Amino acid sequence: MVGPANVGGSRILLRKLREIMETGGVAQERLDRLVAMIASTMVADVCSIYLTRGAVHELFATEGLKPEAVHRTRLKHGEGLVGLVAETAQPLNIADAPHHERFSYRPETGEDPYNAFLGVPIVRSERTFGVLVVQNRASRIYGEDEVEALQTIAMVLAEMVASGAFGDLSGLADVEARASRPELLNGRAFSDGLAIGTVVLHEPHAPLGRVIADDPVKEEQRLDAALIQVRTTLQEMLDGDPGRISGVSREVLEMFLMLANDPSWETKLKHGVRAGLSADAAVERIRGEHRAKFNKTRDPYLRERLHDLEDLDNRLLRALAGVDGAPKQEMPADAVLVARELGPAELLDYGAERLKGLALEEGGATAHAAIVARALGIPMVGLLPGLLSRVEAGDAIILDGERGEVRLRPEEAVVSAYQERIQFRTARAAEFARIKDTPAITQDGAQITLLLNAGLALDVHHLDEVGAEGIGLFRTEFQFMVSETLPRLESQTLLYRDVLETADQRPVTFRTLDLGGDKVLPYVTAEREENPALGWRAVRIGLDRPALLRYQLRALISAAAGRRLRVMFPLVTLIAEFDAARALVDRELEWARKHGRELPAQIEVGVMVEAPALAWSIPALKGRADFLSIGTNDLMQYFFAADRGNARVSDRYDILSPPALRLLKQIREDADAANLQISICGEAAGRPLEALAFTALGYRRLSMPASGVGPVKRLVLSLNAREAAEAVSPLLHSDVPSVRAELTSIAAAHAWAL
Ligand code: PEP
Ligand code: MG
Repeated sequence: MVGPANVGGSRILLRKLREIMETGGVAQERLDRLVAMIASTMVADVCSIYLTRGAVHELFATEGLKPEAVHRTRLKHGEGLVGLVAETAQPLNIADAPHHERFSYRPETGEDPYNAFLGVPIVRSERTFGVLVVQNRASRIYGEDEVEALQTIAMVLAEMVASGAFGDLSGLADVEARASRPELLNGRAFSDGLAIGTVVLHEPHAPLGRVIADDPVKEEQRLDAALIQVRTTLQEMLDGDPGRISGVSREVLEMFLMLANDPSWETKLKHGVRAGLSADAAVERIRGEHRAKFNKTRDPYLRERLHDLEDLDNRLLRALAGVDGAPKQEMPADAVLVARELGPAELLDYGAERLKGLALEEGGATAHAAIVARALGIPMVGLLPGLLSRVEAGDAIILDGERGEVRLRPEEAVVSAYQERIQFRTARAAEFARIKDTPAITQDGAQITLLLNAGLALDVHHLDEVGAEGIGLFRTEFQFMVSETLPRLESQTLLYRDVLETADQRPVTFRTLDLGGDKVLPYVTAEREENPALGWRAVRIGLDRPALLRYQLRALISAAAGRRLRVMFPLVTLIAEFDAARALVDRELEWARKHGRELPAQIEVGVMVEAPALAWSIPALKGRADFLSIGTNDLMQYFFAADRGNARVSDRYDILSPPALRLLKQIREDADAANLQISICGEAAGRPLEALAFTALGYRRLSMPASGVGPVKRLVLSLNAREAAEAVSPLLHSDVPSVRAELTSIAAAHAWAL
C-alpha cells in the first residue's frame, strides 16, 4: 500500500520546489534556497548539489557545509562517495561515511562531524550528471521513504537543469545535462549502407518539462487510462493471432499480461503520481529502477523478467503519449531508430518504409535483428556502448553501416562529406542497375554464374533487383532464428513454397538447418560448449536428432512438388555423414510417395565443403553427391584455426594467401575430375578482388550477398579469365602472408574493375 507519510513528504518537497522555481531570482540564489528547503524538510544537517563539469563533480550549492566551498570543492571522477554515486548511478545510504573506503576528506567543506550520508544520482535519459546529497551528524541509515523522496527531487532537478531552468548559473554551460556536442561512437557494422537522419527512440522518455504534475488527480486519471489501454491491447493481441500482429509468441504475451495485471506495479506507479510526479515521470522512475536491477542481475531468468517489465514500462509510456503499440505513427521521414536491443520481429513491425537506419547499444554477438535489417536493406550499426546516454530523441544522426560508426549531432562539414558519400553510392548503384541484365561473361568468353545468398522470403526479391541467376545458398535457419517459437511443418513449407514461387524458374539451393556454433535459437536452451564452432552443430545435430531434419526435408519436398529441388547439407565432415543425410532424403521421398504426394520433378542433393577433412575427400563424393558448394566462412575458420566471430583473429589471416588459394585450387580440380558441379558461397565470393582470384582458380559459380552482385558483375565484365589465371598461378607459391597487394596491382595494370 501507498504509505501516506512518504507520499506526503515527496509532495511537500515538490510543492516547495515549485514555489522556489516560480519566485524567480538569480539562479544561484534559487539553488541555495532549494538546498536549504530540502535540508529543513528532511531534517538534514547538510544538503548539497554536485554537478558534473567535464572531468570533475563540482559543488554547486550547499546548506550545512561551508559556503566558501561552493564552486571550489571539486571531486575527480570516481573520487569520494559522490564519485561512487555518480559512477554506479545508484543511491548510497550509509550510517558511517568517514569510515567508508571511498570517503575522501575535504577540509574546505568543514564536513568533519557528519556520519550519515545519503547520495542519489541526478540522472536524465540514462545520463548521470550530478549527485544530490543529504548528511546528518547522527549515525543512521535513512528510511526508504527518505531515499525515495530524495530520488524524486533529483529527478525533477535533472529535468530543470536539462531544460534550462537555471539558465544563468555560473559554470552550468559546462554541465552536460543533455547531450549537445557532436560525438563519434564506434561499433560494429551489421548491415551495409549510410543514412543521415533524425533519432527516434524505441524506448521513449517522458517529455521534457512534464515531470511535476500540475494536477495530480488528472495525472492519476491519465495513468489509469493508459494502464487500461496497455492491458486491453495485450488482451486483444492474445485473443487474436499474436504471431501475425506483432511476431510475439503467446507465452510472451501471457507473461506480459500477467505482469501488467500485477498490483504491485500499479501501486508503485500510483505512488509516484500521488507524490506529485506526472504520470510519465512516475513510469520513467519505475523503469529506471527496473533497468538498474537488470544491470545488477546475473540470473538469466530474472533478467528476462526484468526485461519484460521494462518493455511494459515502455508500452505504458507510449500509451501516455497517446500512441500505444504504434511508435510508427509519429515517425519523421528520415527516422533512424535507436534502441538498447531490438528483436527481429519488432524490426519487422517498424518496417523498411519507416526506417532509414538502426543503431543498437547492444545488438549482441548473434544480433538476429541484423539478419532482418540486411534483408530489408536497412543500414545497421550495433555494439555501441553508452549510446543511449548520449542521444536525445530528435538529434541529428549519421549512421555508417560501412565502417560501423555512428555520429551524433554532426558538424556541417561532416554532414556534407556524408552527403557526398551517399551520392557516390547512389551513382554506383545506378551503374550496377545498368548492367544488371547483362550476362556475366568475361572479356574472353568465360561464363560466370552469379547467385544470391538469401535467408528470408524478403531476400528473394533481390533476385530481380540485382539480376542474379538464382539462389546459391538459402540459409533455412534464419526462419528459426527470427521467430519466437520453433516453426511448424506448415510454416516451413509455406516459406519454401513462397521462395520457389518468387524465384520463378531460377534455381534455389536450400541448405538444411545450420544451427549451433554462433547460430542460437532464443527458445532452445543449448548446452554450453567450450568450443561451439567445433561442437555439436549443423548436420551433426541433424543426424543425431533426425526428427527435426526429417521434418525439414518433408517440408522441402512438399514445397517443391512438381518442381526442381536442390538441397545441401552444412558442415559435413565425413563421407559417411553425407551418406546418412542423403538416406534421410530418400526416406522422406519414400514417405511422400507412400502418402500419395506429388514429388519434386527433379532432386539434386549437394554438400557444403566447410570442414577441411571433406575438402580432402572430394574424389569419394563422385557419384554420391550431385553438387558441391564451398562455405569459405567456415572452411577458412577451420583452415586457419581462427574463430570467424572473434574480431581479434577473424581478420588475421587472408583467404588471398598462397596456402588458402592452393587449397581452393585443389578442391576445384578434384571436383572437376569427379564431375561435380562446384560453387563458392562464402561472403568472400561477393568481393571483387576475391572473385577475381576464384575465377582465376577456375571457379565459374559464385553465390553472394545481394550487395556483392553489382560489383562482382562489373569486375567479370572487365576481366580476362585466362590472363587472370596466368597472373595468379605464380602467386600460389609465394611466401607472403597475403597476395592481396600483388593482385590489386595486377588488376590495375589490366584495368580490371575492382
Ligand atoms: C560459410 O560458412 O561460408 C557459409 C556460407 O555458411 P554460413 O556463413 O551460414 O556458416
Ligand atoms: Mg558455414
